[in-house]
Amino acid sequence: MHWFYTPYPHTILFLAYSWGFPIILHVDNHSVRIAAREKHKQKEWGTKVNSTKQIWQAVLGNLELSLSKASFTTWFKNTAILEQSSGKVVIGVPNAFTKEWLMNKFHQAILRAIRAVNPEIKQIEYQITGGYNRRAAEPPPRIVSLPASPEHTPTVKSSSLSTGLNPKYTFLNFIVGGNNELAVAAAQGVTKNPGRAYNPLFIYGGVGLGKTHLLQAIGNDFLNSGVAKQVLYVTTEKFTNEFIQAVRYNKGETFKNLYRGVDVLLIDDVQFLAGKEQTQEEFFHTFNALHQINKQIVLSSDRLPKEIPAIEERLVSRFEWGMIADVQPPDFETRLAILRSKAKERGYDVGPGVLEYIAQTVETNIRELEGSLNRLMVFCQLNNTSPTLDKVKNILANIVFPPKKRMASAKKIMEVVADFYNVTIDDLVKQSRKKEYVLPRQVAMYIIRKELETSLPMIGEIFGGRDHTTVIHAIDKVQRVGKEKEALKHEISLITNRIYMD
Ligand code: ADP
Ligand code: MG
Repeated sequence: MHWFYTPYPHTILFLAYSWGFPIILHVDNHSVRIAAREKHKQKEWGTKVNSTKQIWQAVLGNLELSLSKASFTTWFKNTAILEQSSGKVVIGVPNAFTKEWLMNKFHQAILRAIRAVNPEIKQIEYQITGGYNRRAAEPPPRIVSLPASPEHTPTVKSSSLSTGLNPKYTFLNFIVGGNNELAVAAAQGVTKNPGRAYNPLFIYGGVGLGKTHLLQAIGNDFLNSGVAKQVLYVTTEKFTNEFIQAVRYNKGETFKNLYRGVDVLLIDDVQFLAGKEQTQEEFFHTFNALHQINKQIVLSSDRLPKEIPAIEERLVSRFEWGMIADVQPPDFETRLAILRSKAKERGYDVGPGVLEYIAQTVETNIRELEGSLNRLMVFCQLNNTSPTLDKVKNILANIVFPPKKRMASAKKIMEVVADFYNVTIDDLVKQSRKKEYVLPRQVAMYIIRKELETSLPMIGEIFGGRDHTTVIHAIDKVQRVGKEKEALKHEISLITNRIYMD
């Protein structure tokens, strides 16, 4: 089953696949408010966004927020708007396979995202271009704000249009508990006193615990209060891509103007700076330029600055200059409060005890918590049944949880571990005893054993034909160290979370 969130407030689009055909269920209980907001957006865009390329970039920007990185790259790479006329757009796609997927899986989400930019559009057609159409899509339509051709060079002003913010993330719908109160207080402190309270604010914690939500809430708060005008939210991945494009197309100045001209810079997932030396260098200068003139910087990461591998010391020290606040997994009461708020927001009607049961059962993270509730509701709606407690127990056990576990594989685990420690899969497998490979290798073996219960000789086989006693030793080592060192335990739980993320 696949789940997609549209990037619009209070609107959820579910596509259920397990029944062999797509069923689209659309819950939208605040459409009036959204319509008003979109009309306003349209007014703004109407005057400033004119090229189809800019429209498509805005649409991709929206879609990117709601999809996993893998889905987004797979399905939206090499797409572009080919034509736009009287209520219709033609989207160019590289092949028939992509066309089918976009039509079946993402059509509604694309239509909504396009209509947010231009409500006149009523119809979308997909056309196979066989590779991307160079004329219509130069540069390749990844989300980049620095175009290849000089005639489309955006001014700093026009790029400020794209704040990267999704209005659905606010402080109002962020539940505060013991697990995140420090981070929330710091985030609100920043909105009241930008550039002065804590600069930078560095928020860290595991997957799905609300970091992106908080960064976005800070940005939205600034936009609404008007305290800061130029607000920019960007993922580290996007920053990196834009930087690479800027270098490639000789647009360094435009890049600098864009990032050094903001009042507030919100950068998500800075752990992805690991190993990217040139981007780190550029980021260092961006950071300094903004910090010197008291512009607010907020960063998020899945771990503490000094735990990010292959990152320059001078960046670590800057990340530690201001305030470091963590978000932890929520306790039962907070999980329940979050579920209540989500159920209310979406108008879900559930029987007594149901939310309590979910809150008890799903302990990992909030994305998972929300996902379980959504999956349950869709299942009930599609099967015309109401979510009472006994049904919920059954459905959660049989429908919601098992597919997750099956998704792990030794390959996936090795990929995530390698990515986490910034080494390659080859480094894990090869016969090297270098310190930087030994720990990741041992951790990967440990997780494979724990999650998949793979036999010891088989694990040895996977890791380049090692003897099973070596595997025993490795797993033992991780267990022993893990008992003493909180940091390693924390790393393993981060990695495990990420393995099951999408
Ligand atoms: P992260 O960036 O840490 O991986 P996200 O910010 O994407 O996590 O959060 C995952 C989901 O959980 C989002 O839908 C977010 O709105 C929701 N969420 C996280 N924390 C809270 C909270 N305290 N209250 C309400 N919703 C939350
Ligand atoms: Mg995030």
